[in-house]
Amino acid sequence: MGAELCHDEGKLNPLVANARLRTTAEGLGIELHTDLIVGLESRPDGIEATGKRARYSADRVVIAAAWGAGALTQGLGVDIPSRAEPLHMNITEACETQIGHLVQHAERSITLKQFASGQVVIGGGWAARDRGRDTVPAVVPASMLGNVALAARLVPSIGGLRVIRTWAGMNTTIDGASVIGPLPSHDRVIMAIPGDAGYTLGPLVARMAAACAQGSDLTEEARRFSPARFAA
Ligand SMILES: Cc1cc2nc3c(=O)[nH]c(=O)nc-3n(C[C@H](O)[C@H](O)[C@H](O)COP(=O)(O)OP(=O)(O)OC[C@H]3O[C@@H](n4cnc5c(N)ncnc54)[C@H](O)[C@@H]3O)c2cc1C
Repeated sequence: MGAELCHDEGKLNPLVANARLRTTAEGLGIELHTDLIVGLESRPDGIEATGKRARYSADRVVIAAAWGAGALTQGLGVDIPSRAEPLHMNITEACETQIGHLVQHAERSITLKQFASGQVVIGGGWAARDRGRDTVPAVVPASMLGNVALAARLVPSIGGLRVIRTWAGMNTTIDGASVIGPLPSHDRVIMAIPGDAGYTLGPLVARMAAACAQGSDLTEEARRFSPARFAA
């Protein structure tokens, strides 16, 4: 048996955090446009992106398109094997049980954590059904049953709780590591792909990618995250 304790572990509710990020960005005067980028052309003097709604020119671009990164960088000298991975989640009603830390099993697919509301969020990589890139994945009933049954075995005191919501979302897998920094032969295109665990890694990956966009090089120890490892 083994365990790891992270004293300053934190957790966030993405519904709240994403809305706050958006509000903060708008407050800083950042313009947000929603579009599907279908082509990216790298020129000596800048980048031209073709979207379904408009064309965009920029001195540099940061690609933070997760599973979409491979398709976006095709033809730019790299072959980034980004894949969409549909995953399942559950949340229970609030309970008396206190789970003060993230529970993650070393061998079985499960994570669980508790919100301040007392509700327990149960996930850990159970599959959902891919319905294409234009819609969210569908919940697979067997994943829900397997996931919550395993949770109840690990933490028997939550076994009687009702699951009040399940949902599925799209995770991204690449090669197990983040992809950060400029493309080897098109340095105006900068990657910012955390890979899975992107909520945990996102702020750090974003900071590193932003530094690259402002002209800094990746540090020696961060070079293994460079997209150069996928040079075609
Ligand atoms: C069920 C589930 C549970 C998770 N639990 C955790 C957890 O507990 N802790 C943790 O750290 N992480 C967790 N993750 C992973 C985390 O959610 C992701 O790693 C993180 O959201 C990645 O952030 P991102 O901004 O890089 O990519 P995303 O949030 O995936 O955003 C990428 C965006 O790019 C868009 N896009 C793609 N291609 C294009 C294109 N051509 N043009 C325009 N837009 C495009 C996509 O539509 C998407 O909106 C979980 C993921 C899932 C699905």
